[in-house]
Amino acid sequence: MKNDIACIQKKIGVTPDGIVGPQTVRALKQALGLPQNSSPTWPTQAEVRSGKSMFGAPGCEHELTALVPPYPLYFEGEQVRTIRVHRLIALHVKAALSEVLAHYGQAEIRRLGLDIYGGSYNYRSSTGSSALSMHAWGIALDFAPATNSYATRAPRATLSHPDCERWWQIWESHGATSLGRSRGYDWMHLQFARL
Ligand SMILES: [Zn+2]
Repeated sequence: MKNDIACIQKKIGVTPDGIVGPQTVRALKQALGLPQNSSPTWPTQAEVRSGKSMFGAPGCEHELTALVPPYPLYFEGEQVRTIRVHRLIALHVKAALSEVLAHYGQAEIRRLGLDIYGGSYNYRSSTGSSALSMHAWGIALDFAPATNSYATRAPRATLSHPDCERWWQIWESHGATSLGRSRGYDWMHLQFARL
């Protein structure tokens, strides 16, 4: 893990000491073109569903962008080359995953299932509802779905475990919302829309 971090640090011009401090975070944000004090406020779910938010109408595939994840992600056992998300969240997704890699390293990511990708863009309704899911705008992502299904509660949901605390803090620092942390269900799911 220390090696992974040092490798990233080398790339972004920070002393490769393997420790993620404020300097590394600052350099990472700069390298990714993000503002330094970025904890953006995203629209609410209701605003997104109105079709009048910054994310526009649902199902607009031309608004999506394919990004190369900073560490390997696997969808149904196959490594994915890119993931497709709304262009307005792409930098945040990339930055968050880079911070996850810097914090956990590859081996820990593997152990916690943070590399098991459950999909992002999908034109569909929310589970158990007729309203469109935030996935229909490409602003939601699922991880480790097999062990964090909609109905699996803490502490059975693996992403509710204490060693995933930093995972959620990283996403939340980019303004994303965890349904597990805020509602107690659907621990696989995070979205760039407030509840
Ligand atoms: Zn989801």
